[in-house]
Amino acid sequence: MLEIKNLHVELEEEDKRILNGVDLTVEDGKVHAIMGPNGSGKSTLSYVLSGKDGYEVTEGQAMLDGADLLAMDVEERAAAGLFLAFQYPVEIPGVGNMTFLRTAVNAQRKARGEEEMSAGEFLKVIRAKAKDLKIDADMLKRPVNVGFSGGEKKRNEILQMAMLEPKMCILDETDSGLDVDAMKLVADGVNALREEGRGFLVITHYQRLLNHIKPDVVHIMAEGRIVKTGGPELALEVENNGYAGILAEVA
Ligand code: ADP
Ligand code: MG
Ligand code: MG
Repeated sequence: MLEIKNLHVELEEEDKRILNGVDLTVEDGKVHAIMGPNGSGKSTLSYVLSGKDGYEVTEGQAMLDGADLLAMDVEERAAAGLFLAFQYPVEIPGVGNMTFLRTAVNAQRKARGEEEMSAGEFLKVIRAKAKDLKIDADMLKRPVNVGFSGGEKKRNEILQMAMLEPKMCILDETDSGLDVDAMKLVADGVNALREEGRGFLVITHYQRLLNHIKPDVVHIMAEGRIVKTGGPELALEVENNGYAGILAEVA
C-alpha cells in the first residue's frame, strides 16, 4: 500500500539533511508505528509524504498503491487516498464543520472523477459515522475547531478521517501533549477505522498510545533512518529501557 524506498530529504532553505534513506512498507490493513527520539525525523517524514513545502527529496521514492506520491500535489495526494492527521488542527472561524467536511469530501470525489454527494446523502452518512464514533451531533454545526477542547479536536480529526475514507492514514501524535483521554480517543478512532483496504502509520514519541492501538509492526527511527523493526514488543522495550539500548545495539 505505502512503499517508501531509500528516501533522502534535505531542508530546502539550508543544506541540512534530515532523512537519510528511509525504507518502509505499510501493507494493506496493517497498522505500523514509528517511534524514536526527538529530532530523529519522524515529523519530517509525515510532512514529506503529505507534500508540505520546504523539503527537498534528493533520493528515493514513495508510492501509494503503486502511484508516485512525490510527483503529486497536495490535493492529488488526498484524492489518491492519503490522509494526514495534523498535530495542531487549524481553526476556521465562520465555516461550519459540516460544510467544511462536505466540501472536503466532494473535492476529493471530484478529483477522483466521482459524482458529488448530495446534501441529503451527506447528512445521512455523516450522522451515521458520528454516531459510530460517539461524536455529538452538536459538534457538526459548530465552526471548524473553534473553541474545541483538545479532545473535541481529536474527535473531529477522527471524523474527518472517517468521512474521507482514506487508503492510508498518517497520524503524527508526537509530543503533542495528548492526555490519557485524548489518547484513548485517537486509539478508539484508529481501531474503529482499521480494515482491509486501509493502512495506518502512527507516529508517536510515547509507548502509551500503542497500548490502546496494538500496532502490527513497530519501527524505531533515529538520525533520519529506520534502525530497527519488530512487533509490539519493541514498543515495550522502549517503554522499559528507553532508546539508549536499541541505539547502542544498532550503532
Ligand atoms: P521528530 O519529529 O522525530 O522529533 P523532526 O522531523 O521534527 O523530528 O526533526 C528532525 C530534525 O530536522 C531536527 O533536527 C529538526 O530540528 C530538523 N528540522 C525539521 N524541520 C526543520 C525546519 N523546517 N527547519 C529547521 N530544522 C528542521
Ligand atoms: Mg520533535
Ligand atoms: Mg515530531
